[in-house]
Amino acid sequence: MALPFEADALNPVISRETIDFHHGKHLAAYVNNLNALLPGSGFEEATLIEIVCKATGGILNNAGQILNHELYFGQFSEKPAKTEPAGKLAEAIERDFDSFTAFKEAFQKAGATLFGSGWVWLSADKEGKLVITQETNAANPVQKGLKPLLTFDVWEHAYYLDYQNRRPDHLSALWQIIDWDVIEKRYL
Ligand code: MN
Repeated sequence: MALPFEADALNPVISRETIDFHHGKHLAAYVNNLNALLPGSGFEEATLIEIVCKATGGILNNAGQILNHELYFGQFSEKPAKTEPAGKLAEAIERDFDSFTAFKEAFQKAGATLFGSGWVWLSADKEGKLVITQETNAANPVQKGLKPLLTFDVWEHAYYLDYQNRRPDHLSALWQIIDWDVIEKRYL
């Protein structure tokens, strides 16, 4: 996938150097790995979501990371139109987490306490109820029948160049660049 912003656009929340390694090296490696594994696998024509729900081993891990990073990089904006969600998503957040502030605290805590590498997600279930989940390594909420809406990558490659061991500082800064219009569209 191409980035929907310039490599230096998210600085200082995410530096150009981190984007260059994260998108240009880490994600590129997952794409190259998957392309090498697909021939003869039976998944040549499958979508990423189909692969993530059915495959195992290296195909699952690399496809999962590609799907996760498409949702991750696709949710950022240099200048988001608004700093919090509106409409039906805002109503659902207040209903299921009491307030936007309480939601953000719970989401950051889930990211900060995820042991090792993984992702924290906001997803919707079949009825539209919102849930926060911690997913390890390359896992994605679609594997649980959930619709993924928002994610923070807590693999060290996502923040170590800019924040070193200060993962909570990185997570609390990410709200500045979330494009809530994108998250609202995913929810509808
Ligand atoms: Mn990553």
